[in-house]
Amino acid sequence: MASCSGTTKKGTPCKLNALKGSDYCLIHIRQDPNAPSGREAIEELEGRLSETAKSVLGIAIMVGIVLSVLIKRR
Ligand SMILES: [Zn+2]
Repeated sequence: MASCSGTTKKGTPCKLNALKGSDYCLIHIRQDPNAPSGREAIEELEGRLSETAKSVLGIAIMVGIVLSVLIKRR
């Protein structure tokens, strides 16, 4: 596996492994000017994360409703 071509905040070369199809790791993928697919992948990942957050919030609301019903029954 190739190593990342990005540079760290200190200005030293990154030692992490590069992502598949890219010369950069997940942290430095934004430094890659030739990887629109990498950016799309990150945007897709961020989209999935927000969807997950929404579903988690939905479950939390459902649990809250169920608990309030159970408490009222007592
Ligand atoms: Zn890197």
